[in-house]
This record gives sequence, C-alpha cells and structure tokens, in this order.
Amino acid sequence: MGVGPLAIYLAQLGFEVTGEDDALVEPMRALLAREHVAVVPSGAVPAGCSLVVYSSAIAAAHPARAAAVARGLPLVRRGELLAEVLRGKKLVAVCGAHGKTTTTAMLITALRRAQFPAGWVLGGLFADDAMPPARTGSSDWVVAEIDESDGTIDAFSPEITLATNLDWDHPDHYRRLDDFASTFAALFARTKSAVLISDTCALSQRLVAGGSGINPDLRPKYFSFGRSGDFSCEIAGETGEHLRLRLGGRFPMAEVTVRARGEFNAANATAALAAAQLMGAELAPRLLADYTGVCRRQSVIHAAPGLTVLEDYAHHPAEIRALLASLRGRVGERGRLIVLFQPHRFSRTAQFKTEFAAALALADRVHLLDVYAAGEAPLAGGTTADIYAELKKNSAALPVDYLPGDDAALFRALSRELQRGDLVAFVGAGDIDQKARAWLELRRADEMKAKTWDDFADLLRPQLSAGARLAREESLAAKTTMRVGGAARVYAEPATVADLQVLLRAAQARGVEVFFLGRGSNLIVPDEGVDGLVIALAHEAWQRFEPRPDGRVWAGAGLRLKNLCGLAGKAGLVGFEFLEGIPGSVGGALRMNAGAMGGWMFDVVDEVEIMTPAGEVKTLRKADLHVAYRHCAELLDAMALGALLRPAAQADTEAISRQIDVYRRKRHETQPREPSAGCIFKNPAANSAGRLIDEAGLKGERVGDAEVSTVHANFIINRGHATGADVIALMRRVRARVREARGVELEPEVLLYGKKWEEVL
Ligand SMILES: Cc1cc2nc3c(=O)[nH]c(=O)nc-3n(C[C@H](O)[C@H](O)[C@H](O)COP(=O)(O)OP(=O)(O)OC[C@H]3O[C@@H](n4cnc5c(N)ncnc54)[C@H](O)[C@@H]3O)c2cc1C
Repeated sequence: MGVGPLAIYLAQLGFEVTGEDDALVEPMRALLAREHVAVVPSGAVPAGCSLVVYSSAIAAAHPARAAAVARGLPLVRRGELLAEVLRGKKLVAVCGAHGKTTTTAMLITALRRAQFPAGWVLGGLFADDAMPPARTGSSDWVVAEIDESDGTIDAFSPEITLATNLDWDHPDHYRRLDDFASTFAALFARTKSAVLISDTCALSQRLVAGGSGINPDLRPKYFSFGRSGDFSCEIAGETGEHLRLRLGGRFPMAEVTVRARGEFNAANATAALAAAQLMGAELAPRLLADYTGVCRRQSVIHAAPGLTVLEDYAHHPAEIRALLASLRGRVGERGRLIVLFQPHRFSRTAQFKTEFAAALALADRVHLLDVYAAGEAPLAGGTTADIYAELKKNSAALPVDYLPGDDAALFRALSRELQRGDLVAFVGAGDIDQKARAWLELRRADEMKAKTWDDFADLLRPQLSAGARLAREESLAAKTTMRVGGAARVYAEPATVADLQVLLRAAQARGVEVFFLGRGSNLIVPDEGVDGLVIALAHEAWQRFEPRPDGRVWAGAGLRLKNLCGLAGKAGLVGFEFLEGIPGSVGGALRMNAGAMGGWMFDVVDEVEIMTPAGEVKTLRKADLHVAYRHCAELLDAMALGALLRPAAQADTEAISRQIDVYRRKRHETQPREPSAGCIFKNPAANSAGRLIDEAGLKGERVGDAEVSTVHANFIINRGHATGADVIALMRRVRARVREARGVELEPEVLLYGKKWEEVL
C-alpha cells in the first residue's frame, strides 16, 4: 500500500518501473497496469534495473532483496526514495499514528474539488478506483502520507506538516516513548512554514510547547485543529452517510458537509480542510460532500436489512477504541457488534496486549485471529494467545473465541452465531480484509447450497408417510455416543419400506450422497456436519424382534443390540450375550461386523435383508456376503433392513443372564463411562492399540474437552464440550506420538462421518 502508489508516482515522472508483491490485491494490480508498471515474478529483478525500492516489511532474505544485493544494486526503503523524489517540492506531509491515510485522502479530495493543482502520494487506495493513489500534479505542491514506522520520516523536510495525532506505536523501532517523541519534534523543527496538530493530542501539545528542545522562535508556525483549536470544528449533525460540521476560528466559513461518519472522521476532515487552507486553496462548504473514502476504512462490504459487514484497517488500540465506539451507534436495536480482530505484528501485540483487550471489550463478541507477522519473527508475549488471556482476565463475561490457524472453523462459528441486526467488523492491518471477503463468499455459497437442500427436502416431504420424520439441519451430536459434530443437511426417519424407497430413489436421481445412521456409536461427526441425506431407522417399525417357528429370530436393523440381547435372553436363546454392552443397533453391527468377547455379529447371521440405492429390496444369504474385521462389503452402499439370526442353542434364562452379567462386569472394569465412540484405532497386527498409546504416555492427553481415557487408552472421551475438531486433533497427536515412539502407524477404527480419514489426519 505504500510502495504501489510510489511506483505509480515514479511511472508518471517518466521512470521505467516494475514491481512485485507476494500478495498483490486486485485493485492495486489494475492501477499499476494502468500506469504501465509491470508486475514481475517474485525475486525476478529485471535486467537493466538501476535501483531497488522495498517496503520495510520485506525481510533481508527475500529473493528480490537478495538478488539486488548479489547484483550490487542500490537498495532503498519506500520512505527514503519518496523523500528523494519530493526534494525541491512543496511537500505537505501527513503523518501521525491514526487516520493519516483518511486525512490525506480527504485533503486530496478537497484540493481537487477546489481545483488546486497539487500532486499526491497516498499510502492506500481510494475506495473509488477511478481515483489513482498518486498523481504528479501541475504545481510545486505535493501531498504525501509519510510513515514514521521505520524511521524514514527523518529524511523529510516538509513545507507543511499535518500530524493527525501522536500515539506511541511501532515499538519495534521506537523502544521508548521518548524516541518516538523526539522523531516528531525533529520533523516539526524541520518543517518550513506550518505544523498542524490536534488540540486533543497531549504529546503534540507537549512538543509544541518546546519541552523537547524545539526552537521557541519557530512557534508561530504551529496551528491546532479540533473543538477548541485554531481551526475549530464540532459536529452539528450526523445523517445517513454524512457529517455536518460547524467550523470556527481561522476557517473562513461556518459549516461543511463531509461524507463520513464518527468523531474521528470529523477530526480528520477538520485537519484536511485546515491544511488545504494553509496551502492557499479556496474552501467551500461541499468540498468533502462527495468524499468516497479509502479502502479498508470502515468499508462496508455487505449491507442487507439483517446484517452489516465491514472491514477496517484499525490496528492500534486507540484506533480500535475509536472505531468500535463509532460502530456502536450503527448496530441495530437487537443486533450485536461482533468483532474479528487480527493483530498486526508481534512487537505491537507484545507492547499493547492489555490495551487491545480493553479496546476490544467494547464489542459484544470477539473472535481473535493469529497475529499477522508483517515480516516479523514471533515474539514471546506478543501472540494472539496473550490478548486472549488478557480478555479472559479482565472481561470474563465477554464471549471470546480463538481458534489458532483455523479460518475454516472460525468462518463456520461466525456463520452459525449470526443474529438478525448484527454488525460484523473485520479489524486489522494484515490480510483480514481478504478473509472478510472470503467469509462472505463462503456465506453466499452456503446460502445457495441451503436453497438447494431446501428444494430437496421440499421434494421429499409430500411423498413420505405420516409417520416419517424429515428435517433440515438436524444436529447429529446428540444422536451419537461421542456427542460431537454438526448437522445433517437433510435428515430422515422413514416409517415404511415405501418411505425408504422414496428417499433412496430421490437421492440417487439428484446425485445426493446418502449416509445411514444407526445409534451413532462408531462415528465421529465433523463440526461442519454432513453434506447429504442422513437416514436413521429410528422408527419403531424397524425395531422388531420376532422369533420364528423354525427357531430363528428376525431382528429389525433399528433394534438396539442391548434389546436384542435382553429379548433373546428372555426367550431362552443363547448366542447373543456378547452383544451386551455394544451400544449400537443391529444395522450398525451388521455393517461393522461388531464383535466382542470372542463373538462376531456374523456368527449369528443367516440372512440379511437390504435395500439397494435404487430402492430394491433383496435378501442376501450369509454365503453371499463378504465379511471381514469391522466390515461387510455389501452394506457399504445398501441399507440393512433387518437380519434373520440363528441362535446357538436354547438355555434357561438365568444361565443366559449370568453370562451377560459376567460380560457387563468385565466391560465396566475395563472401559470408561464417559461419552466415547468405542475403540478409536484398530489393533495393529499382533499388538494392542491401547497398549501402544499407553506406553507413549498419552493417557489423560487432552485437546479441548477431548481426552485420551485414563481407563483405556484406546478410548477418547468427551469431557463435556469437546468438538469434532478436538477429537480429530487429539487423534492426530496420538498417531504422531505412537509413530515417533514405536514406528507404528495407527489406523482409525471409528468412522469419520461423511468424510475420509485421509482428508483430515
Ligand atoms: C462404549 C463403546 C463400546 C463399544 N464396544 C464395541 C465392541 O466391543 N465391539 C464392537 O465391534 N464395537 C464396539 N463399539 C463400536 C460400535 O458400538 C459398533 O461398531 C456398533 O456396531 C455400531 O452400531 P451403530 O448402530 O451405533 O452404528 P453407527 O455408529 O450409527 O454406524 C456405523 C456404520 O454403520 C452404518 N450403518 C448404520 N446402520 C446401518 C444400516 N441399517 N445399514 C447399513 N449400514 C448401516 C453407518 O452408516 C456407519 O457406516 C463400541 C462403541 C462404544 C461407544
């Protein structure tokens, strides 16, 4: 944002300019192209180049800097070259901690409206892309935004200096407040004809008062702006997009209209108009009435009756405080101010974490993102986690989230929590503006998808029987034993075979993916839920237990294994006791060939009735089925409707319940009681996954509320509020540690619902 406008200015002066940017944004690309500034690949310093200019955020090791050094080319920073190019010009230097781009843009706008022929170099982009960020102009005057962050400010000797306000920032460069103050004191002293300062800025006032060794003879050139300044102003009214300002003091007119909002923009406009007047421009009441703003300053990127989304460049606590105070007034009656904040630079975060937390506390809800490094190496005490800790300590009631490095989860959480009337502000100087747009894109795509799913549900509903259930966005967490994860886009509980046929055929015709759900005891549902139709045989019609005259038993696929075991026991049928304690259904047990205590589901199966994806009902004999460890190939696509089971023998019910009791006790002694999905990993050949995990010292290991059980290391339990992401992250950690310790790659036994493990592990 600094180097691009300078490149344009140089191109207009007649230099041949090329440039590169590792994250070039589209409006800048177009503006550069318009001025014939060629964008070259990273590190490709063109032949014939005589000087390389770089932003201070570019590290010495960057390929372009390294290439320049290798070729012996001179290298300068943006500020150094700008000072050199403007030498001999009548420079109006706009500087200060906050609002300098806006003030510069307002000054440029006012001068253009007043037909004052100054050139300019903005440190940003106008929101109106017809306005270039730099122009050489046709007079000696040039307005430029100058930057104190890297010390290059020392190279400027302006005609007029406009200091919006001075607030200690850039602690990476100015270790102490005094270093910062003396830089500005020196700039003021070098200024030839006028220095404009804010009447509310204590530090500016102190410097002007001569406390820092400024020559008192120079004092007449100082002017203040603000409520009680030499150029005075107060807000007379705020309507729609406009401010009405009452002017006084040295201003020649009583009122102006400014297209901007908020107290700080009133101050920026006052400063800009004061500078224009000092330059000799003729002021008029509507010079700023059509001010279009600059990119990334309260840029509204979505405005709909129920939701406003904007992004802003604020990256210093004072700016955030001012921004949020101004946004408060724009939040709907029942809406909330939701802030997503991306801290900029580790050094600034370390310096101001307490102040950042205090400023953010003005929001109703805060999401924190990782620090945008801007070329810095991480710094202890300067991370997002430090701001998070400050917020937790001092604003315990404020809902704050921080999901390190996980934009997708952040976007999902944000979309989920939105309420009518909310104002969402993406705040920071890094790439959060792009994230804001990415989130909006995602939201739009989600809305389109939602419409498609609504249509699908609407198509199904009238075709189903009265006993069937159909729902959109049905939460699946409560339908699983692990109790994590998101919703099914469409969820159905058919009551009849015809219902199931309707569901499967419609899904096939529309290319909708179908997922069968039993009792959810072998599943991890991802937090984003399942993009498809989830069908559960939860209706009682699928839970029948019917002894047949030939001694066999029909068990519906929806029957709980516990009930199968209990009912069989009551009927004196032996062979099902091992199923006690497996918290699944007959359908799930068939699909998984569930097994325990030496018994396997398919030990007791004679026939399975299935429905194919085309809605055809078929009976498959055991010999037709391809069954293996936790696997039945025929049930990968087809749904089991029930099975004909063959008991091993007849016995008295007491003997059966004694056997069941033995199994139950054994389970209680060796397995945790908390919510889980059973064994997480398969046992590797001739080994036990639980033992390997235990030996790697992982019992009790936690991610969020997901924990490796201390009772059985191959169980992950949910301590209360675990998310799908917590469970997956813990599984990843367990695998890595076992791999490191024993060289064994553990394979999941549980299923990841709607996805493949390879996608996430
Ligand atoms: C505490 C605990 C202990 C456990 N102990 C054991 C154990 O000892 N032995 C063991 O084997 N497992 C065990 N499990 C795992 C789990 O209970 C079994 O795998 C069970 O068979 C899964 O049945 P479900 O109905 O819950 O299926 P779900 O978890 O709902 O689904 C599992 C799979 O079956 C599919 N499916 C479900 N219903 C049907 C259907 N009707 N037709 C076709 N496919 C279908 C699903 O699509 C999914 O792919 C345990 C789990 C827990 C939580």
